[in-house]
Amino acid sequence: MHLDMDAFYAAVEQSDNPELGGKPVIVGGAMRGVVCAASYEARRYGVHSAMPVFQARKLCPQGIFLPVRMNRYKEVSRVVMEILRGISPLVEQVSIDEAFADISGTERLHGPCYALVHRVKAAIRETTSLTCSVGIAPNKFLAKIASDFKKPDGLTILGEEQVKEFLKLLPVGKIPGVGKKSGEELRKLGVIFASDILKFPAQLWENKFGKWGVALYAKAQGIDNSAVEPYSDPKSISAEHTFDKDTDNIAELEKMLMLQAEEVGREIRKLGFKARTVNLKIKLSDFKTITRSRTLPEPFAATDVLFNAGLKLLADLKLTRKVRLIGTGVSNLSSGPCQMTIGSSSEKSDRQERLDRALDQIHSRFRDNMVVRGRMIDEV
Ligand SMILES: [Mg+2]
Repeated sequence: MHLDMDAFYAAVEQSDNPELGGKPVIVGGAMRGVVCAASYEARRYGVHSAMPVFQARKLCPQGIFLPVRMNRYKEVSRVVMEILRGISPLVEQVSIDEAFADISGTERLHGPCYALVHRVKAAIRETTSLTCSVGIAPNKFLAKIASDFKKPDGLTILGEEQVKEFLKLLPVGKIPGVGKKSGEELRKLGVIFASDILKFPAQLWENKFGKWGVALYAKAQGIDNSAVEPYSDPKSISAEHTFDKDTDNIAELEKMLMLQAEEVGREIRKLGFKARTVNLKIKLSDFKTITRSRTLPEPFAATDVLFNAGLKLLADLKLTRKVRLIGTGVSNLSSGPCQMTIGSSSEKSDRQERLDRALDQIHSRFRDNMVVRGRMIDEV
């Protein structure tokens, strides 16, 4: 089962303030920021999330523009996730308003799945007065597409025997991970529906898109073996990379550090955490491993702060051999309320925060490396 709240931030605002009901509500506050959520009334004007606020104001001048109240959304999110955890111990929260629940084998306890979904939807509506859309399917990838099928307040149940038929007419752009660019490439090959992918051999997709191509070919057959992974608080978050060839090229090491700082930073922010300690791990060509860490005075979640601390750790190392592996991580995590450091933040950190937020949103909509920092440019 995949559950996705409808127009979440905007819907919370509307339910907290009934005067906003039926009106075009756009959450994303700052003039130079991006839209975080738009009510269905606002979407009719062409407003959608990740769009710059100034553009949304042009499209929908009568819109009600509200600042992001993350703490409130997290509160409501916790209520929703609690309801889901009441039906299955296997709940994987993917974002603030979205989760998978493995409900296989719960029929004897909960009855048929449509009855279960109706109960879940009713419980959510009663406790939060919000609606959600649900998809039920044999695996995660199909359940996610199914939940998006009839929004808002939707329910789509996809039985094993309907999968083939469903994929026949599923526009390829609906497959998670197919963005504008890859969608364009697929269209050039005449791939319009998911099933069209199977007209070409798996090898072609692998050559074209690498690992992602292999997964794409599997998905076109309705195959996805990923498990629902219940979430538990991580103690640390890290990323590491083994170079194809050992290197002592500082620019190359720094670039990898940047890439990892982006990845780790994104993860911290997604989980709503802040970290205090930055860890650097280096494995040399003789397999000797060096680790260094640095604890910062203030908790942070910004890619930039993480990167600079990593850079300093790297610069302080006296590398005697070429590097085989580099890893960047953070520990000393705290979840506390997401600090919107409005008054106290310097203009620079405010800009960094907006940059991170914009990049995170782009990243969640498109595939990796759609937008990269200038430092990464010759890696593209
Ligand atoms: Mg949603």
